[in-house]
Amino acid sequence: MLHLLRNASVFAPTPLGAVDILLAGGQIAAIGPKLSAPSAGWPVEEHDLSGYVIVPGLVDLHAHLGGGGGEGGAHTRVPPLQLTALSLAGVTTTVGLLGTDGTTRSLADLLAVARGLEHFGVTALCYTGSYEVPPHTLTGSVRGDIVHVDRIVAVGELALSDHRSSQPTLDELLRVGADAHVAGMMTGKAGVVHLHMGDGPRGLDLIRQALATEIPARTWHPTHCNRNHALWAEAKDLTKRGCFIDVTTGPDDEHGPGAVTAILDYLRSGYDPARLTLSSDGGGCFPDFDADGVLLGMGVGSPATLLDTVRGLVAAGLPLNQALAPCTATAATLFRLHTKGRVAVGADADLVVLDQALNLRSTIANGRFLVRDGAPIVHGMFERPDRRS
Ligand code: ZN
Repeated sequence: MLHLLRNASVFAPTPLGAVDILLAGGQIAAIGPKLSAPSAGWPVEEHDLSGYVIVPGLVDLHAHLGGGGGEGGAHTRVPPLQLTALSLAGVTTTVGLLGTDGTTRSLADLLAVARGLEHFGVTALCYTGSYEVPPHTLTGSVRGDIVHVDRIVAVGELALSDHRSSQPTLDELLRVGADAHVAGMMTGKAGVVHLHMGDGPRGLDLIRQALATEIPARTWHPTHCNRNHALWAEAKDLTKRGCFIDVTTGPDDEHGPGAVTAILDYLRSGYDPARLTLSSDGGGCFPDFDADGVLLGMGVGSPATLLDTVRGLVAAGLPLNQALAPCTATAATLFRLHTKGRVAVGADADLVVLDQALNLRSTIANGRFLVRDGAPIVHGMFERPDRRS
């Protein structure tokens, strides 16, 4: 089925104005004002989207697809994300990871969950490893996993400056970074080390030391950079040395800036917009520990917080294209996903239709409608409406 999307205001994320978009074979085949209708007999469905906005499908670089957590005991393991948790969030590309728990959870399971999501049209990639060093791998090495396993594109989230980290030395970190970098060169994949940053006083110190080596700065991709004010200040400066930094969605709290505050601060302070990514930590847990590391409570992350953040940024006065970039074009650039994160001819047909208030109307993944007119039309196997009691 071809789809001809007419008259929406398109953000690529650069604003393109009111144009038509033709989807064919899972790709964007044509973009332009008032495209002529295909010949009679063509299997094309036309959609009049006057008054709506089309943006790229969101790229979420950090999602615990199989569920994260477990720090508070086996009863605190988060269940896997269901398909509609992504489709209703407008996420069409997600990169799954393990987390603290690389012991009861496995890469084999994570890959299977990702493969299951891809069955329905979502592009679901994975990181090898977990919090730990040496990283858990499928093939025996980080390099082998990235080179041999199509779906594995990077390593992470490897934990630093956190009481849950395996406390790697600089040399151990460099070895992982070198493997990721070279494997990325060999395959054209992301080849980054996605680094979970904790609240520890050492902050980004190990990454700064790693920047003094031959390994390119883009290899080091710290996340949760807005979790406390000191880390956030360090992270912003790290972008001047060529690193991309990742903000995790969430509200302001007493420890650090929320995603909206952090992104506005970053852009208004004159840092390079092309070095900032945003991810959801969907399916991850947000544990609250006391000073002895005792768990006080736990929440769960949702991919829907990406679009919440975009709405918050626009409400604060940021143009939509700038609000979208960290979880579309910039994320795709860092991860070398050349057909993702943009509305362009030849790109994958991953699109989100929003209303004027930027609420999600439809999600199209690889040319397939997963959400239409505000409701899912494709469900995961165990979330079909007819299965609900
Ligand atoms: Zn993390």
